[in-house]
Amino acid sequence: MPPTLLTLWALGALLILGMRVAVLRRIAENETDPLRSRRGFRLVQVLISGSSLTWAFGIPMFAYYGSGLELTVLALVGTSMFVGVLLMNRAIPVAALFHTTMLAAGLLVAAWLIARWDAWPVLLLILVYAAVLMRSVLAHDRAFVRTAIAELERTESEATVRMLLSEYEVQASDWLWTVGPKGNLREVSDRLAQAFGRPAAELEGQPFIDQIGNGERRDLLADALAQRQAFRDKLVRIELDGEIRFWRLSARPRIDGRMTGVARDVTDTQIIEERVSYMAHFDSLTGLANRYMFNERLRDALAQHGSNSTRVALFYLDLDDFKGINDTQGHMFGDRLLREVGARLEQDVRCEDLVARLGGDEFAVIVVTNSGDGMLIERAHRFLAILREPFEIDGQTVISTASVGVARCSKKPCEADELMRRADLALHAAKAKGRDQVALFDRGLDREMQERRRIEHELREAIKNDELRVHYQPVIDLDNGATVAYEALVRWEHPQRGMLAPLQFLTVAENTGLIIPLGDWVIRRALNEMAKWDGDFRVAINLSPSQIRSAHLLNSVTDALAESGMDPCRVEFEITEHVILEHNDVALATLMKLREMGMSIALDDFGTGYSSLSYLRRFPLDRIKIDREFVKGLGDSVSARAIVSAITRLADAMGIPTTAEGVELPDQLDLLRKLGCNEAQGYLIQEPVAAIRLGDPLDEANRMPELYGSVLDYRKARQTALARRRKRSA
Ligand code: C2E
Ligand code: CA
Ligand code: CA
Repeated sequence: MPPTLLTLWALGALLILGMRVAVLRRIAENETDPLRSRRGFRLVQVLISGSSLTWAFGIPMFAYYGSGLELTVLALVGTSMFVGVLLMNRAIPVAALFHTTMLAAGLLVAAWLIARWDAWPVLLLILVYAAVLMRSVLAHDRAFVRTAIAELERTESEATVRMLLSEYEVQASDWLWTVGPKGNLREVSDRLAQAFGRPAAELEGQPFIDQIGNGERRDLLADALAQRQAFRDKLVRIELDGEIRFWRLSARPRIDGRMTGVARDVTDTQIIEERVSYMAHFDSLTGLANRYMFNERLRDALAQHGSNSTRVALFYLDLDDFKGINDTQGHMFGDRLLREVGARLEQDVRCEDLVARLGGDEFAVIVVTNSGDGMLIERAHRFLAILREPFEIDGQTVISTASVGVARCSKKPCEADELMRRADLALHAAKAKGRDQVALFDRGLDREMQERRRIEHELREAIKNDELRVHYQPVIDLDNGATVAYEALVRWEHPQRGMLAPLQFLTVAENTGLIIPLGDWVIRRALNEMAKWDGDFRVAINLSPSQIRSAHLLNSVTDALAESGMDPCRVEFEITEHVILEHNDVALATLMKLREMGMSIALDDFGTGYSSLSYLRRFPLDRIKIDREFVKGLGDSVSARAIVSAITRLADAMGIPTTAEGVELPDQLDLLRKLGCNEAQGYLIQEPVAAIRLGDPLDEANRMPELYGSVLDYRKARQTALARRRKRSA
């Protein structure tokens, strides 16, 4: 081959190679890809096509001058160039097609020059090969363009979303967060950094979980992040500068292994929600569970223990005279006391027990235990003991006691309502025993309850069916034995059970409100019956506390007076100490009104209650009835005698007459007279009887011989005493 020709070809090839190297270096140096510009792309196309051209000319040239082994080497080089370069240029189809055409032409010419028509199989092979290559270049190009477009579209939409989100981030109270595959914060935005109150650079790469307060919520979040699960509105607690904030987080995993999500500060709504939930579940005064939460927990405890529900014990506590404390010391003081009581109970239970305030002065404790009834009662006594300790409130010492009802379920599973009912019954039983008492529910209480229900039902019917009666017991003047009054005492002529005494049904009447119609009926009946009798005696009628509290009483008394024509001055009402002590304004006003109308008020059962004589001054009483307990003790108890003597003397000093109740023995009658008592009443004189039997001398049952004897003796003694006095004065 002539050296000039070879040099020329080599120089051309080197020039093009040099230019390509320069372009590649520019690509490497500049981050910006010159291929992205149209001009740069064209330049690359031209350079590639230039290389193709050098080979397209070179190969026939070498074939023309070469021979033997040289030609075999040339065939190898030519084939490599044909296919290998194509492989590199396939992403630039124009260059690839040009290369294929040019090299195919060069190879065809070379083969022709070497073997003329004898090379026809090689010529054919080159043509077929070129066609196949071109097809594959075109197919590849179409596929490449499709992927490129898809990729472009994807980045474009991603950019749009990004733009929208960043817009949203600026405006809304929410912000974006991203974590890497290991849960470390990535791409920390300014807003997120601001929310955390720390520089973005400091947060970058920190585990997200570390920024979140401990607790169950944090663990749930950690799980979700670790498992790369999408989640929505997960609530977490974050402490920022000592301030508790609540965030709601949502997130979804990304293809690149990161997770991106939104965080929203919901502290304000969360605080309101928590407060509402708190108010719904806790008592605002004591901070204890309220009735709602108590019911929920009781139901849960019973459900949890299922057939083992005997383990669930309920203590139902009620303060003994809370109303009194509230009335005398004021509501603020009462509230303080309730708070203290709640705190003491709370301190005295295990943390798994629940203390609740059910309202007013009622508390309940749920205890789950294996211990037997004895232990439960002991537990209840402990509650009473801690409440019995004096309370220091506002520098004042108060003593308050409570009553406790204890109940547990029987063997078979029971409902919360049933357990509550039992505890309530037990509490009532405890209250009935007096102050500071404990009662445990048993079947007997249930039976009593049913009995009370039955009585209530029958008593309603009894009023309608005219089964009530009034019996009268005379009261005599101890000076002359004359009957000065009749006390009206109600009876119930029960169709099956015979004549019932008031104690057998009055409590039920009192508790159910039936006492009001019953009391009205007694007033009317007593006044009507007694009005028919000649004589100047009083009619004494018992009033129960709730009757006196009822605004209705004055009307029914006025009506009964009008109907019977009875002189109000002959009517006396008997009340008990509680009515005066209760300080109920309505009740006291009613009593004053009755007095203004001319009727008198007697204090019944004196000495059984608080026995505080101070209230004798608080309310103007017309009579004191000394309770029969003292009369009973007169014979052998020195203290009873001392008490009766004290009462009569004090009453005498205040100008209030006294009546002794329950006189059964002649000695008692004598003693009472000596102690200065004014009047007496009792079986000795006469038992209470129906009106028609009053004063019937033939009625043996009512006119006991001893009684007759005693009263006659007494009258005789009195006459002789008077005679002696007269004689002395003479
Ligand atoms: P109370 O007001 O103390 O009435 C006197 C009670 O003593 C009556 O009982 C009477 O039968 C009983 N008694 C009378 N003399 C003797 C005696 O020598 N020895 C004994 N051991 N007892 C005697 P009763 O009739 O069973 O009434 C019981 C209570 O029921 C009454 O006690 C009164 O508090 C109440 N009560 C009776 N009737 C009425 C009524 O119409 N309305 C109201 N609110 N209460 C009534
Ligand atoms: Ca009475
Ligand atoms: Ca009495």
